Amino acid sequence: MDRMKRTPIKEQDPKVRANNFEEVCLGYSLEEAVLEASRCLNCKNPRCVGDCPVSINIPEFIEQVKSGNIEEAAKIIAKSSALPAVCGRVCPQESQCEGKCVLGIKGEAVAIGKLERFVADWSRENKVDLSEVEENKNKKVAVIGSGPAGLTCAGDLAKKGYNVTIFEALHEPGGVLVYGIPEFRLPKDTVVKHEIENVKKLGVKIETNVIVGRTVTIDELMEEEGFEAVFIGSGAGLPNFMGIPGENANGVASANEFLTRNNLMKAFKEEYSTPIRVGQKVAVVGGGNVAMDAARTALRLGAEVHIVYRRSESELPARVEEVHHAKEEGVIFDLLTNPTEILTDEKGWVSGMKCVRMELGEPDASGRRKPVEVPNSEFIMDVDTVIMSLGTSPNPLISSTTKGLDINKRKCIIAEEETGLTSRERVYAGGDAVTGAATVILAMGAGKKAAKAIDEFLSK
Ligand code: FAD
Ligand code: SF4
Repeated sequence: MDRMKRTPIKEQDPKVRANNFEEVCLGYSLEEAVLEASRCLNCKNPRCVGDCPVSINIPEFIEQVKSGNIEEAAKIIAKSSALPAVCGRVCPQESQCEGKCVLGIKGEAVAIGKLERFVADWSRENKVDLSEVEENKNKKVAVIGSGPAGLTCAGDLAKKGYNVTIFEALHEPGGVLVYGIPEFRLPKDTVVKHEIENVKKLGVKIETNVIVGRTVTIDELMEEEGFEAVFIGSGAGLPNFMGIPGENANGVASANEFLTRNNLMKAFKEEYSTPIRVGQKVAVVGGGNVAMDAARTALRLGAEVHIVYRRSESELPARVEEVHHAKEEGVIFDLLTNPTEILTDEKGWVSGMKCVRMELGEPDASGRRKPVEVPNSEFIMDVDTVIMSLGTSPNPLISSTTKGLDINKRKCIIAEEETGLTSRERVYAGGDAVTGAATVILAMGAGKKAAKAIDEFLSK
């Protein structure tokens, strides 16, 4: 075995998968997982753990995989993470745990994410019970939102013996894991539902179709329904737009709406009648994970798809793996290109998109080189559908209906980094609602910190 090289992982052929919604990556077999685990040096001072936002004991679980003891590996991961099959699939490991693995200095980092995924899938297939709960404390905690932040906070508190109820606005729990990230990256019925079921097995109740701020307010939950603390994990679901002419045309959608129709409302399945419009030629504006997901979804629905991004490839915020997969499947990248107007036909439908070419100038406040317009470079891109993927912001509904809850200019709830405590006593917040659109594992990390702080406060 060459210790510097990763054990390859099987994937669906790009030509085949470009026409279906089945999962792209097929995962390791037991033999492959053991082989990959045996590359780990079991470092005395494991740099990988320090860069895991939920501090999974990575060398310890990998050691168990190496010995073929997968159930024990699952138990080690479960101490830190309620959603390992999700994280193993969607975490940006290359910039977290794997980015710090010593083997990555001279060769390829251990495939920590793929091993985590293997362990989680194995324990699901082998029905391993991971629900260890302390004695009941008879104290009620409310969690708003059932995305990764809410599920993690709820799961950790339930393990400590609290009676936790999650209030979720949508008809299905899971947040972005069910309505945003597509099936071909994160299967819903097997992976996501199972991990939500594991949280429920800890005793967490999930009430769907409850919009906090409309159906019930935080003040009512605390003052009338006896909840002693509240965690807000309501995400950042409001899409941003460019503000260019023509953005209201028929055939323009936000990536969130497009993906929700497809994922949650199953537009890609013939037996569902959810309306979704994908023309012949689609422009997806933006370069993040959400843009890649929208582009790859539109491609699978039969369109020619262009990613339109104003910076160059090295500034693309999406994960390297997602960009690589999108390219393999046939998504076309129009980089250093910026839309200036969406053109419409006489019936108000998109008939093209005016764009300008860009070049990179001096670094801006984010440290990335600022794109500047190339003079006289205007051209018209021939497209009939435009999907805007320019980031999202938190919905102000909760902050505007809760007494004393402070938000910042970006409408994000202000919360202490270490505890998630907001300006309102006994109200905590974390995940995208606090940071703006970020990642699953950061949301989980915030949910974990808040659960610890809530437990410390309620145990006084
Ligand atoms: P969310 O997952 O947004 O969950 C919030 C929940 O709160 C939702 O279910 C919402 O319905 C509910 N809610 C909102 N308001 C209320 C209310 N008033 N009352 C009750 N419930 C409410 N991250 C990665 O790490 N890797 C990826 O590959 C990745 N890909 C992504 C792809 C897409 C398409 C999108 C949109 C995001 C992606 N992300 C990815 C980001 C990641 O999914 C988010 O950062 C993460 O889900 C945030 O978790 P959260 O729990 O804070 O919020
Ligand atoms: Fe194993 Fe890499 Fe972590 Fe060291 S840094 S313990 S080699 S995964």
